[in-house]
Amino acid sequence: MSIVLHGVPIGGGIAIGRAHLVSQSMDEVVHYQLDEAEVAAEQARFGAAIATTRAELERLTASVPDKAPAEMKAFLSLHVMLLSDPMLAEVPCDIIAAQRCNAEWALKQQADALVEQFDAIEETYLRERKHDVLQVVERVFKNLNGHGVELPDGDWDGELILVAHDLSPADMVLFKDSAFAAFVTDVGGATSHTAILGRSLDLPSVIALHNARELIREEEWIVVDGEQGVVVIDPEPLVLDYYRARQASWRAARAELANLRLAPAETLDGTAVELLANIEMPSDIDDVVEASADGVGLFRSEFLFLGRDTLPSEDEQFQAYRKVVSAMQGKPVTIRTMDLGADKNARWMSHGVADNPALGLTGIRLCLAEPLLFRVQLRALMRASVYGKLRILFPMVSGLNELRQALSQLEIAKDELWEEGIAFAENVEVGAMVEVPAAALVVSSFFKLVDFVSIGTNDLIQYTLAVDRSDDSVSHLYDPLHPAVLKLLSLTIRSADKAGVPVSVCGEMAGDLRLTRLLLGMGLRRFSMHPAQVLAVKQIVRNTRLDSVKDLVARMLRTEDPDKIADLLTQLNAAPGD
Ligand code: PEP
Ligand code: MG
Repeated sequence: MSIVLHGVPIGGGIAIGRAHLVSQSMDEVVHYQLDEAEVAAEQARFGAAIATTRAELERLTASVPDKAPAEMKAFLSLHVMLLSDPMLAEVPCDIIAAQRCNAEWALKQQADALVEQFDAIEETYLRERKHDVLQVVERVFKNLNGHGVELPDGDWDGELILVAHDLSPADMVLFKDSAFAAFVTDVGGATSHTAILGRSLDLPSVIALHNARELIREEEWIVVDGEQGVVVIDPEPLVLDYYRARQASWRAARAELANLRLAPAETLDGTAVELLANIEMPSDIDDVVEASADGVGLFRSEFLFLGRDTLPSEDEQFQAYRKVVSAMQGKPVTIRTMDLGADKNARWMSHGVADNPALGLTGIRLCLAEPLLFRVQLRALMRASVYGKLRILFPMVSGLNELRQALSQLEIAKDELWEEGIAFAENVEVGAMVEVPAAALVVSSFFKLVDFVSIGTNDLIQYTLAVDRSDDSVSHLYDPLHPAVLKLLSLTIRSADKAGVPVSVCGEMAGDLRLTRLLLGMGLRRFSMHPAQVLAVKQIVRNTRLDSVKDLVARMLRTEDPDKIADLLTQLNAAPGD
């Protein structure tokens, strides 16, 4: 009899194949007593497992491909660090001696104690690092038992789907070049490393399934629906037929999308739309070129500052910005100044964790509180501006005075360069992000000072609805279609249009295919998204007649009833194109 599980979809598409169980759950740990004479040998066995695990992690770190997401190396280093901590490397040895128990049991007790400590941490990002501790512990378990995570040998009938309680970044590296078609895990929050890296693999996958590892047996047939977040165990023939048909159309659609690379992004009525890409690291630029995006709409420069003990120097930053600007060969590259704070804390930041970090010293506030650091970045940006069309974007602006202060820091940076005889472009465009409701309401006041604005819907939704974007327990309230969000979006787009100031959306809404027509109908003509989404959005743009969506969108903006909005959205997406 088939079983259906529901989780959080991470990568789109459908995979149908056989399950391979890759990790051992901590709940399966055996417990036995030792004689006094056996204690030293058991401690040595534990020490050897730690040494093997360290060697394994170091080998994996060295083998991370250059193209892999930059976070991957950072996560592996974090795992090496955790493994070296006496709390993991030494305390279990004391437990073995004190309780005369086996190494697995000692490690499990210490892991449980550490998890309890992490659970008590209020700050989400730090609390989620308990998954990293557990991943390291699982790896030590496997080495205690003499077998690591391995792919099965031989011919497999059907695709291979990894089923794990959790998958660590190290496992991801191991599997990256192997032929597996999907993965599913029991755990994983929206900001967990598994989710971040899973997205970058671009495979159908579902996380947070809770008991998949327990219910799925080795080699069992399963279906992974990465669009709906559904996993079907042992599907009935009819269900299998249904998913095979969906898989075939998904594959055909992907192949067809590749043909759109060079096609213009314009609606059926001939209106041109700019499709830009979001990147986190300079190495992401290859994907932007591959997708034929019209430029970079958002370079989250703060990622240059994360996962390291020291600040990147002016020169290091300059090299990074120059690489991206040069690679885009004259197409615009919008670099956001460091948007640190909230859930993105660099190790060198000394401000501590605030009670309400998302309402604290983040984005432009942090830049203005640290003007010397800010100016190092502004100087590096201006120096890179001579290599192409660089644009500067300020994050989290909430009012005119903040914007004035940011601009005056930019003037100081330019004056310094001028006096030092260092070249920079005269006409660098400067923009402000609209991601706080206050900014949306006073956006017209920004237009005298900026050349463009970009709407950060991820934060705009969070701050408008008072819903923490990384808190699972309120994720059902995080709603891009809330009438208040739609009104703020529409207000910003209309005000910018009226003033003739270019406006884009660079939050996740821009890459959400359900919302493309809605945004087009609101008047949006610039979208910035993950490079992998560019062609799918282009396909919808090319299949939209603006005349036939405008009325429906106007009706959506007039109602405050969420059911009516949902109904109108269905009609909007069903409206015929050509
Ligand atoms: C946003 O808030 O929509 C945005 C693009 O910025 P980030 O997701 O980096 O906060
Ligand atoms: Mg933001």
